[in-house]
Amino acid sequence: MNLKNQFQLEQPIFYKILSNCFESKRIPHAFLLVGENSSMAAHYIAKSLICESGTLACDECNECHRIDNHNYADLIYANGNEETIKKGKIEYIQEQFSKSSLEGKAKIYLLENIENSTSEAMNSLLKVLEEPISGVYAIFTCQNINRVLPTIQSRCQVIQLLPSSKKILIEKLKEKDILKDDIYVLSEIFSSYEECEKYIDTELFDDLKLEVYHFIEDLYFHRENLVINVETHLLKKYKEKENIRLFLNMLVLGLKDLFHVKQNMDLVYPSFKSLFEKISDTEENIIKRIELVLNTEYLLETNANVLLLMDSMMYRI
Ligand SMILES: [Zn+2]
Repeated sequence: MNLKNQFQLEQPIFYKILSNCFESKRIPHAFLLVGENSSMAAHYIAKSLICESGTLACDECNECHRIDNHNYADLIYANGNEETIKKGKIEYIQEQFSKSSLEGKAKIYLLENIENSTSEAMNSLLKVLEEPISGVYAIFTCQNINRVLPTIQSRCQVIQLLPSSKKILIEKLKEKDILKDDIYVLSEIFSSYEECEKYIDTELFDDLKLEVYHFIEDLYFHRENLVINVETHLLKKYKEKENIRLFLNMLVLGLKDLFHVKQNMDLVYPSFKSLFEKISDTEENIIKRIELVLNTEYLLETNANVLLLMDSMMYRI
């Protein structure tokens, strides 16, 4: 799905406001996007200002890519989460944009997480916004609008973004009194509640979780049993591609948790934590293993023999 359609579906308010502005050619000089997933939307506005493929950005042309890579000459980018935005930065923007355009199109400054600015920077920013220069556009993002000066807010087109669909899915699963482990696994694999519903509290799902645990345990501590255990448990009971695909998906999440546990991050399988902590493997090896599982999943689609494919994976993993 292209980015435009994705916004249309997942951020309908943002999409509507943006297309109205661009279609009527009444584009505000400043946008303020509110929400934790505002970065992609902010870049999309910047792309739409310079892309020539249509009213809104195509997200495919060279100009669009240059915005993503922050190497468009008339784009100044900063992120308050990486470094507090200081007065000097705003003065630099002012100075650069008083010169003539390098690219001959819109001049854009995109500042993410502007709540992380010093108060001097906020005041300078306000002054810049009070005297808009034709052809110069400001795009800001913030997670907490209460930390942005109301006088800045009032000079921007403020758009509140909706939480991401994954977050909505997790919230919905939480309401249903489902095990914490299952919520994370399901929300990583599926994108809608309807798909998850088929597996919640099923024997299949519980079995596969257990198989993931045993697979990883055997892989690292009883390598000699891996093939025979998988053949006599998992593959004896489940031969359908759909179920094996689900298992492989769940296995990848388990292997990724080996990274998460090292970095003290949240696990997809919190209850497997003590096993994962005992495993020492290099990042390089873990990545190779994940790639092998993903490749097996890919081959599964091409009508291969499930048993042969799984055997080949287990010998090579
Ligand atoms: Zn484009």
